[in-house]
Amino acid sequence: MSLNAAFYTGNKQFSLETVESVPPGTGEVQIDVAYCGICGTDLHVYLGHMDQRIGDHRVIGHEMSGTVSAIGKDVDGYAIGEPVVVRPLDACGECPSCLRGFPHVCQKLTFLGLDTNGAFQQQWSVPAHTVHKLPNTLSLEHAALIEPVAVAVHDVRRGQVAAGDDVLVIGGGPIGMLIAMVAKQAGADVTVSEINTHRLSMAKAMGINTVNPKDEDAAAALMASTGGKGVDVVFEVSGTQPGVDLMTAVTATRGRVVMVAIHANKPTVDLFQFFWKEIEMVGARVYEPSDYEEAIRLVATEAIDSKRLITSVQALPDIQSAFEELAGNPKAMKTLIRCNAAEAS
Ligand SMILES: [Zn+2]
Ligand SMILES: [Zn+2]
Repeated sequence: MSLNAAFYTGNKQFSLETVESVPPGTGEVQIDVAYCGICGTDLHVYLGHMDQRIGDHRVIGHEMSGTVSAIGKDVDGYAIGEPVVVRPLDACGECPSCLRGFPHVCQKLTFLGLDTNGAFQQQWSVPAHTVHKLPNTLSLEHAALIEPVAVAVHDVRRGQVAAGDDVLVIGGGPIGMLIAMVAKQAGADVTVSEINTHRLSMAKAMGINTVNPKDEDAAAALMASTGGKGVDVVFEVSGTQPGVDLMTAVTATRGRVVMVAIHANKPTVDLFQFFWKEIEMVGARVYEPSDYEEAIRLVATEAIDSKRLITSVQALPDIQSAFEELAGNPKAMKTLIRCNAAEAS
């Protein structure tokens, strides 16, 4: 059987190629990919920022949903046709992080869909331990958001967000918006800080407070909105110096900062504020299996309305224009690629 696969070939280009279907290997599950979302990381790949890691002939994509199409040797507990998602992390099992029980931050982590071929293709074989089953009631289109929702669940868990907390999310892209939704669902009073006006109105429409850090009195307004005490939990998702400045300016005494963004350059951090207000900071990276289970629950029960982030659904042959549009359109939030025509909704 011949299948379509979209290969990133460098220099903002994808090439749609025909590949032969191969049976899953030992310990693997083969999945007919239904949908695969374009992650911020995929955009970085497209823009050429990760060529050293990716090379020039790689199927990327990991925010996927699909149904089991074949089961490899030594795999139990899966049935053909079952709806599933993949937690795209394959740890080494031997490094200090793995040995301490944190394989999601393995020091030699294999990220499926970056370090191996991913899900912008019709069929994808993955290690069985990465597969999570879905309830039949959940649409596969909506299920393609489970991976980014799991990121948000992990971040909120690391932030120990409690009901009644004042929460600030700095950066209102897809991950920031999902953190806001998950924190709100946990009972927090959430504000998103963002400069993109489309994103600000999207947040407002979801009942989330907003602040534009370009407004001169943004920090003062934030402090006032907490009755002067400051923000209990701040999520830094912007990856910018102004974001880092705002982060320390508004955190409450004994508040918590969760570092979600990937700061490629070392920002200047006002460490005095950490001392003065006894602020805690934690890092948060990807997710653990329990975060996936919670993300599946939140999406399947519609406890969070994550599907409103989907601004476009494109067919696999249109992946090139889908990336071009996402990179250039400030209104775009989450684009899904429909990888199998049979899954058209
Ligand atoms: Zn992702
Ligand atoms: Zn490891």
